[in-house]
Amino acid sequence: MISSYKERILNLGLKAKRVLVTGSTRGIGKAIAAGFVGEGAKVAVHGRRQEAAEVSAREVVQEVGGKAEQVIAVSGDLSAKGGVGRVFRGCLEGLGGIDVLVNNAGTFEVSGWKQADGDRWLQAYGVNVVSMVRLIRRVVEPMREQGSGRIIQIASISAAVAPPVFPDYAAAKAATVNLTVSLMQELAGTGITVNTISPGPVETATWKDFALQIAELQGWEKDLETVKKKLLSGLMSNASGRLGRPQDVADACLFLASSRSSYINGVNLPVTGGLAARAV
Ligand code: NAD
Repeated sequence: MISSYKERILNLGLKAKRVLVTGSTRGIGKAIAAGFVGEGAKVAVHGRRQEAAEVSAREVVQEVGGKAEQVIAVSGDLSAKGGVGRVFRGCLEGLGGIDVLVNNAGTFEVSGWKQADGDRWLQAYGVNVVSMVRLIRRVVEPMREQGSGRIIQIASISAAVAPPVFPDYAAAKAATVNLTVSLMQELAGTGITVNTISPGPVETATWKDFALQIAELQGWEKDLETVKKKLLSGLMSNASGRLGRPQDVADACLFLASSRSSYINGVNLPVTGGLAARAV
């Protein structure tokens, strides 16, 4: 049983790597940011609002016993061109560049085919795909010039299993998996790897809201513990018998960002406890 952060340190050679984790004021992104700080990297903690990013940057450092100079806070709405530019410039000014881009920011909520109209599909694509592409387009040339880099997309297992509860989101995440493979080939021979992580259900505040929305749809009692049990024995059952934790995704991300993963390129790594596993 791992009890303290120090025991979790993986020594992956990430010391002084310059990392941008989008959407890292909470949830999975925050755990990823904390993981990188724990490994000695320099991390840009990103949020929509500067104040929230600054608070989270301080919390991340405290959580892993890092140093204040290991983090900077950057802000901007990634669904807007201007926001992406602002975040990128903030990283250049504060970190001097980006060695690892973790495209984590995304939004999900129950929609369903009846509610999800064309505008909603466009919005889901904009936030979950176009925002990632805009950042990728910014980081790729400098990474090419330095002859190394890591680009990691956080997608979702829903890209593969495509449940009807959020078709717009699931399809957007499938596009994320697809663009990773395309980009990996575009960057062949450059020293940059491009991979996707597809988490299953991970117990973040946003996921809890999502689970309660499912409960409402199903007509279940809206008690979170009961809902979790029902989901784990049904829709979200998996061989590990539990929901994911943000650290589960963070650990996978740290490995894919490290030099030890240089021969892993273009993969879509499920972090699901075995949910929806397939042999081929
Ligand atoms: P979360 O809601 O806790 O965090 C998402 C972060 O992204 C927040 O910091 C939010 O502010 C930021 N963000 C969203 N849209 C943004 C925008 N337009 N501009 C700037 N920032 C924006 O969510 P989470 O549960 O931690 O999920 C993180 C990622 O993992 C998402 O991409 C999500 O789709 C994916 N994912 C989550 C789960 C899960 O069960 N929690 C499962 C599979 C995939």
